Amino acid sequence: MNETKECLASSANSAQSEMFALLVCPRDKLDLRHEEGHLVCGQGHRYAVVEGVPVMLVSDVEQTHIEGTRALAIAESGDASSLAKFTLGPNDIDPFVRNAIGATNGGLYGHLVGTLTEYPIPKLRLPAGENRHFLEVGCNWGRWCISAARLGYRVVGIDPSLKSIRAANRVARQLGVDITYVVADGRFLPFRDLTFDQVFSYSVLQHLSKENTFTTLAEIRRTLRLGGNTLIQLPNLYGVRCLYHQLRRGFREAHDFEVRYWRPAELLSAFTERIGPSELSVDGYFSLNVQPSDLHLLLPRYRAVVHCSEALRGLSAKIPALKKVADSLYVSSSRIQ
Ligand SMILES: [Zn+2]
Repeated sequence: MNETKECLASSANSAQSEMFALLVCPRDKLDLRHEEGHLVCGQGHRYAVVEGVPVMLVSDVEQTHIEGTRALAIAESGDASSLAKFTLGPNDIDPFVRNAIGATNGGLYGHLVGTLTEYPIPKLRLPAGENRHFLEVGCNWGRWCISAARLGYRVVGIDPSLKSIRAANRVARQLGVDITYVVADGRFLPFRDLTFDQVFSYSVLQHLSKENTFTTLAEIRRTLRLGGNTLIQLPNLYGVRCLYHQLRRGFREAHDFEVRYWRPAELLSAFTERIGPSELSVDGYFSLNVQPSDLHLLLPRYRAVVHCSEALRGLSAKIPALKKVADSLYVSSSRIQ
């Protein structure tokens, strides 16, 4: 352990010090030291720790999400009094999750806003974790991180929203899973080179410009170990539902937080160039977010959509042409050098 890590370890409890040991300055990747509620690098870049959560956003670039701007305002003011405080009973559903479910899980979950009675934890299509290091980029309240932790991964989740990360910490505590959450931006990952074995992202990069997605992929590759893998979901330009949405907005260029659609061949070349050998598989048809594991939570008319999607997904393994019209695609890539 070097001097910096010792300094961090002495100023935090052990779980926190383990988390801080993973972190570097997102701008220049230098080591950090603890200084009056901040993490500070050798170049003097400062990052506030708000109620135990490191806010590792880069303040002098445009944020990709309004919640990143809000998180920075709270970090810079040092005043966290505007943040909601919740105490959860064992059977409560976190109020943030109850409200956010339509946004984080998609339109087919809209009827659950305010009425959710269980956390919809999806099934991650990955092998057992065996204590390997897993990073989720854009984790929101942490549904995929919980899934990864239960599969045996050592999990880190990042999101630019301090509110989401606070909710993620509350839900992880309530469910008894051990996950490290950090407020951060995928374009400026605050982690050392060669840290993670598996990087995952779902329904997140679609909200970034393609330029920002390329920057994020380069950062993901940097933090991935040799032989490490990524599994990243993105929407297919030629998906039936995706074509309908593009038609509704007149096939114009997307801006701000709007969904960017990708051609399958474009996904393969972007990921192969920036991470390594890549292949596509189907996540689903007719929607971008719905999970078969949530079938019992859905309205009956949407269950039929999921059954149909799952049948087509099964067929796509035998008839590769069907991948080309799936709405939601996974890109799996490996870092080989
Ligand atoms: Zn720095």
